[in-house]
Amino acid sequence: MPRSEEESNPVSNSSPVPAGTRPQFDDLVVGAGVLGLAHAYALARRGRKVLVVERHARALGASVRNFGMIWPIGQTLGANMNLGLRSREIWLELLKNAGIWHHAGGSLHVAHHEDEAQVLTEFHAQAVEQGYDLELINAAETLRHSQAVNPQGLKLSLYSRHEAAVDPREVIATLPGYLQKAWGVRFEFGQMVRGIDGHRVVTSAGEWTASRIWVCAGDETQILYPEILTRQGMFPCKLQMLRTAAQTDGWKIGPHLAGGLTLRHYTSFAGCPTLAALKARVARETPLMDTYGIHVMASQNGRGELTIGDSHEYNPPEEPFGPISPFNTQIIDQLIMDYLRTIMVAPDLEIAERWFGVYLKHPTKLWFETAAEPHVEILTGIGGNGMTLSMGVGEQHVARVLGETGSEDALDSRFSQNSGRQAIPALA
Ligand SMILES: Cc1cc2nc3c(=O)[nH]c(=O)nc-3n(C[C@H](O)[C@H](O)[C@H](O)COP(=O)(O)OP(=O)(O)OC[C@H]3O[C@@H](n4cnc5c(N)ncnc54)[C@H](O)[C@@H]3O)c2cc1C
Repeated sequence: MPRSEEESNPVSNSSPVPAGTRPQFDDLVVGAGVLGLAHAYALARRGRKVLVVERHARALGASVRNFGMIWPIGQTLGANMNLGLRSREIWLELLKNAGIWHHAGGSLHVAHHEDEAQVLTEFHAQAVEQGYDLELINAAETLRHSQAVNPQGLKLSLYSRHEAAVDPREVIATLPGYLQKAWGVRFEFGQMVRGIDGHRVVTSAGEWTASRIWVCAGDETQILYPEILTRQGMFPCKLQMLRTAAQTDGWKIGPHLAGGLTLRHYTSFAGCPTLAALKARVARETPLMDTYGIHVMASQNGRGELTIGDSHEYNPPEEPFGPISPFNTQIIDQLIMDYLRTIMVAPDLEIAERWFGVYLKHPTKLWFETAAEPHVEILTGIGGNGMTLSMGVGEQHVARVLGETGSEDALDSRFSQNSGRQAIPALA
């Protein structure tokens, strides 16, 4: 049984609590992945007394399996990209204060085909018209920006200053220590939340009470609230990833690197007239890229290792929430590495580690949030955007649920494009 919190520390009464009961915490966050940490940070900054409960000894979900790319350029121009930029701002402040390695080096999308150059040119024009500071640069300038770009057949590239790198394993492992020390957030690792009953949170080690409960349990939210997620039509996606050993002689990638396949992947490029022709060429020339949902990107962490990926595999439509295969597929790794060599050069591309990650997606929304009960918030299904958007999404979610003035305006623009808060009755 977890020890009782000190009685002298009163909690706010922002939501009704059972008569005669005094919750131990203002807020209990389920899950210490990036969304859970973002919520804990946003809550603690408001002076609230916060507990985070994580089932593993340290978080092991999607938040430690990704590229560590803070990637606003993947978001649709407008409200979504602005949320990405705001999220990056929060990240950079937090990382600086916590003394955690990061690199705000931007990104390069490189074009090695005419249709890719055309899509980047079209996107650049749209972005500049909307006031975004992006540069279209020729092959020679590209090679000056990055020694990692393959010069063979290079047409041009799109350079953006807005992207940043973190080491997901390091940041997710070390942020709890900082949040505990600097912001008084309490963490209980190795406790699995089994159920939420009113303001009681029952775990594998006992129970806690909190005025408000925030469920940020990633794809495992399905275990706690299967009906809600199934009703929403949410589904998992499996991604294969690779990592090299540290590059030799301090070799640096510079900005994150993405190739032409990536233009098929992110919604930011959806409005480019030439995208359809690019997609048709890829489907014709390399159909397996579509079969396995492959696009190829590379990032580098503070130790010099390159993280490379990825694929996107879904269950068949008749069984969308069926089991995810626990096995990696060799042909996917081969396709990723073969393509990578067409866009990138590096001293050592030998693979040292392979893994896969899973995230949840909503059929239409950028993420899914709802109140399972008046005092129980669920936020999940942020798909491939969690490292980018979580800090901004956590901040806005907390501000709105706590009824802070001004939060509705910011959220209205968000909801018009992506999320959409659902009023869902509490389940029995
Ligand atoms: C391979 C891959 C690459 C990606 N690359 C990027 C990228 O570069 N940039 C980007 O923006 N996004 C990227 N993403 C997406 C991003 O990683 C996810 O959107 C994000 O990590 C989701 O965070 P989360 O906190 O919701 O989930 P998770 O990281 O899964 O965290 C949920 C946590 O809740 C805990 N938990 C679950 N159930 C319970 C319970 N009952 N009790 C207690 N604890 C519980 C879990 O143990 C877990 O630690 C990538 C994803 C993958 C898989």
